[in-house]
Amino acid sequence: MHGVEVTAPLIGLTAYARNEQGRFHLPAAYCEAVVRVGGLPVLLPPVQVNVKAWLARLDGLVLTGGDDIAPDGYDDRPPAGTDPPHRNGGADLLRDVNELAMVEEVLKSRLPTLAICRGMQMLNVALGGTLVPDIADEFGKRVVHRLPPRQPAPHSVAVEPESRLATILGATHCAPVSSHHQAIRRLGAGLQVVARAADGVIEAVELPEAPWLVAVQWHPELSAAMEPIQQRLFEYLITQAAEAAHST
Ligand code: MN
Repeated sequence: MHGVEVTAPLIGLTAYARNEQGRFHLPAAYCEAVVRVGGLPVLLPPVQVNVKAWLARLDGLVLTGGDDIAPDGYDDRPPAGTDPPHRNGGADLLRDVNELAMVEEVLKSRLPTLAICRGMQMLNVALGGTLVPDIADEFGKRVVHRLPPRQPAPHSVAVEPESRLATILGATHCAPVSSHHQAIRRLGAGLQVVARAADGVIEAVELPEAPWLVAVQWHPELSAAMEPIQQRLFEYLITQAAEAAHST
C-alpha cells in the first residue's frame, strides 16, 4: 500500500435511477467536487441492498439531485387519476426508498452529509414535510429557478446571518446555480429555513442539533470549480468526514 492515500475520506454519492439503456448514471460534477477536496467518490445506485450496512462503510454522503420524489411518498399528492404537473421523468421508487432510509440512518449515525436539490427535498419529506409540485404554478416566474426544459440558471439567495450555513459559506448572500421546479412547502420536523430566493422559495434548511448535515436547494457542484463560496460546502463535508473517520 506504499504511496497510496488510505486516509482520504470515502464519500458515497446517490446515483440516478436506471435510464432507458439500463445504466445507472450521475453528472460528473458531483464526483469532481468531491475529488477536488481530497475525497474518494463512490456511486450508490438505486439497488436493493441493506442501506445501513452500505452507509457504515462510508465517511460521508452526498444526496444528489435528479428526478422528482414520487408524490405518494408525502401527503400532498394530486387528486387520484391525475398526473402530477410538469413531472420530471419517471419516479424511481427504489431510489426514493433507499434515500429515505439513508436520511433516517444519517440522523441516527451522524454520518456527515451534504443534501443537494432533490436531496434536500428528500430530507424534508423524510421528516414529514411536503413539497410544492411546481414552483411556477404557485410562486410565478419572478425568479427563474431553472430554464426549460431542464437547464440550470443562476439566481440570488439570501442566507440567514445567524445560521450555520452562513458560517460555512462565509457569506449571507450568494448567486448559485439553480435547477429545480419543486420546493419545500411544509417544513419537516425540526428543520429551520436558513436561505430563501427573492420570491420566498426555500433555498436551504438545517437542523440546529445536526451540524453533520447540510442541505441546499441549489447545485454547488455546478459552480464549485470557479466559486470558492460553493466549494466550501464540499470542504465542510470533507472536514466533517475526516473527523468522523478518525474518531472510529
Ligand atoms: Mn432556486
